[in-house]
Amino acid sequence: MEKTLILLKPDCVSRDLAGSVISRFEKKGLKIVGLKMLQLNDSLLDEHYSHLKGKPFFAGIKKFMKSAPIIAIALEGLECVEVARAMCGPTNARKAAPGTIRGDYSLSVQSNILHASDSLESAQKELKRFFSKSELFSYEKASFASIYSEDEKKG
Ligand code: UDP
Ligand code: MG
Repeated sequence: MEKTLILLKPDCVSRDLAGSVISRFEKKGLKIVGLKMLQLNDSLLDEHYSHLKGKPFFAGIKKFMKSAPIIAIALEGLECVEVARAMCGPTNARKAAPGTIRGDYSLSVQSNILHASDSLESAQKELKRFFSKSELFSYEKASFASIYSEDEKKG
């Protein structure tokens, strides 16, 4: 099943929006298969944002991404790379439509709440960057059969 990487950025964590954003992914039906809080450093950011090296905002975005811890999430689901990107909305949150995460929670280009991998290839690379194999989990979503005891199922 397809997986993607989400990073809840420092603005999301420090504005107490992490729960709301995670809840949206859960309600959509995507499965959390990995999750951790971490403090980003220069080497990880240089790698993660290598496509932006040389841009005038590169130093600014690195400073911002180190300003508070982030929450890394591995999501799994049907076409979840594209689905998660659509749920984020475009990079410039002022242009993001209401109903998208950036559209509902931000007015900023830089502090735009979250990162989501932009292709299957990036997702595979980025998941490896943030999660070891043992930090990614495989489990079934709750169902009557999976969460009730044998006695309870008898009714
Ligand atoms: N960014 C910025 N100014 C810009 C473009 C991007 O500060 O003009 C920041 C913003 O936080 C964005 C991140 O750099 O999310 C990565 O840029 P990218 O183009 O990969 O956008 P994304 O894939 O996050 O929508
Ligand atoms: Mg990007």
